[in-house]
Amino acid sequence: EEGGRAARRPRVTVDSSKAKTSLEALKISLRQLRWREFPFGRRLPCDIYWHGISFHDNDIFSGQVNKFPGMTEMVRKITLSRAVRTMQDLFPLEYNFYPRSWILPEEFSLFVAEVRMMKGSDPSWKPTFIVKPDGGCQGDGIYLIKDPGDIRLTGSIQSRPAVVQEYICKPLLVDKLKFDIRLYVLLKSLEPLEIYIAKDGLSRFCTEPYQEPTLKNLHQVFMHLTNYSLNIHSGNFIHSDNVNTGSKRTFSSILCRLSSRGADVKKLWSDIISLVIKTIIALTPELKVYYQSDIPAGKPGPTCFQILGFDILLMKNLKPMLLEVNANPSMRIEHEQELSPGVFENVPSPVDEEVKVAVIRDTLRLMDPQKKKRKGTHNCIVFRRDPLLRVVSVFCITWGMKDKQHKHHTLKLSLKLKFYLKLGSCQSSDPVSEAKEEVWGAGPASSPGQDTAPEAALPSLCLKQVFPKYAKQFSSLRLLDRVAALFIRFLGVKGTTKLGPTGFRTFIRNCKLSSSNFSMASVDILYIDITRRWNSVGIDHKESGMCLQAFVEAFFCLAQKKYKSLPLHEQVALLIYFCEYQLAALDEKRPVCGRG
Ligand code: ADP
Repeated sequence: EEGGRAARRPRVTVDSSKAKTSLEALKISLRQLRWREFPFGRRLPCDIYWHGISFHDNDIFSGQVNKFPGMTEMVRKITLSRAVRTMQDLFPLEYNFYPRSWILPEEFSLFVAEVRMMKGSDPSWKPTFIVKPDGGCQGDGIYLIKDPGDIRLTGSIQSRPAVVQEYICKPLLVDKLKFDIRLYVLLKSLEPLEIYIAKDGLSRFCTEPYQEPTLKNLHQVFMHLTNYSLNIHSGNFIHSDNVNTGSKRTFSSILCRLSSRGADVKKLWSDIISLVIKTIIALTPELKVYYQSDIPAGKPGPTCFQILGFDILLMKNLKPMLLEVNANPSMRIEHEQELSPGVFENVPSPVDEEVKVAVIRDTLRLMDPQKKKRKGTHNCIVFRRDPLLRVVSVFCITWGMKDKQHKHHTLKLSLKLKFYLKLGSCQSSDPVSEAKEEVWGAGPASSPGQDTAPEAALPSLCLKQVFPKYAKQFSSLRLLDRVAALFIRFLGVKGTTKLGPTGFRTFIRNCKLSSSNFSMASVDILYIDITRRWNSVGIDHKESGMCLQAFVEAFFCLAQKKYKSLPLHEQVALLIYFCEYQLAALDEKRPVCGRG
């Protein structure tokens, strides 16, 4: 009987048809978990959709997708710099892990002026800057300069915006080489925020011994840029056949070296964890705006999770600095090797395989829908996974059934549908037999006790929860999430990411922010001024109106006006409390309409 029960447990289904270069690592993970792969997609919904590039897929209404809407846009160099800068304005000391940056071309004059001013106040300061084109990757188009006047302002910078950043001149060296760290971070959920960090990552090495930048060596990419895709073309590149040597090693092997030199590895990890949590806190407000626009509350849609690649540079004093965040970190587990001149072959890379397979497998273990079910969210998961039940569920919602009533009707109908599904399977229609497999588990691999890998047979999880585990320490930084919640409330029409003038006026009126010395005419002027400026620099010109960053700027203006002479974060916090209080009072008076 025990065996029979095991055989009936449905196997988790994974659509890998869009996995792209992460396919190999995904396949190995699925084999280890004994989950069911659909390499060419499936007519019935799957539990998990594994996408190599982006979230966007209008056909998915249920299950879980390994990408968040808007993440790729959010971690572009310019958007990330802006998001971190806003946090630096609020909490300068907490966000000093990101190099001072300027956005080109719009901040070119500011860049020149600030550098001149800083040099004036400290003549011994001899900075170097790194220019990185927006949307670039793998070191593409990156160059170093000593003087703002050396920026190549011709043609490309106008058509291709960039970030110019203070260059970190004193990185930590191992074997006299500069290296950076790629760490894998799982954003398991946005609301509530859940973050996991992989215990091991990769260290990618330069291939020329490092020297501090001088006019003579500025152009030497193998000395200054750690990108694997660049250094692989250096004659000095060493393919790693174990995790401790070569041009790509595990981060844990570096930590061992550092620990044997007496470094405080525990403190280093805790600094890295803080950096990761603070960076994600800077990204969440806008991600929430994207999320509600792509998957509006109450409509059927998948839930999301995402593996992010954090690129971190250690300074000589072991302080970790954030270089960038990758929405689609490479999950390839092989590399190209030149066997003879001009003849290349893909060969397995043991270092990549060790780290990346563990990250994918353990992400899947954490997202396992059956575990969630066992935790008591059974009904909800069944509704989301089964297309027919989902239709019933949506039908009930559409007909305005209240939560309890909705659950009751959906459950009743679900029993009937299960009965039909069983009947249908006897008549061997293809999607129905798939559905049967899904509900009861079937196929040769689901023999008793073999349907899913027992947890005990797998290594312990390589992903460690850091949020909400350390939430308390960071709660005061989450001000902009609450500003985003106000913004979303006044967006009005579902599916938009920008606030119209009427929405902004309603926000001011409902929060009682206008007064005799701040008239509604001034409100309109504030809206027009800020919106126009943001729309002229923004990437998204599809929609008109005020984007979240513009709203945040307006919010800061209002906070400064209302609570003069306090530090900015206190002004903003007070205004948030004020607005939330006014809105709560309003909600008590009348039924909430709109998105509240
Ligand atoms: P890409 O997406 O093109 O890889 P990165 O921002 O990761 O762009 O930069 C490429 C490389 O340049 C990094 O891996 C790192 O070695 C080096 N780098 C980037 N920013 C800095 C910086 N501020 N200081 C020192 N080195 C940097």
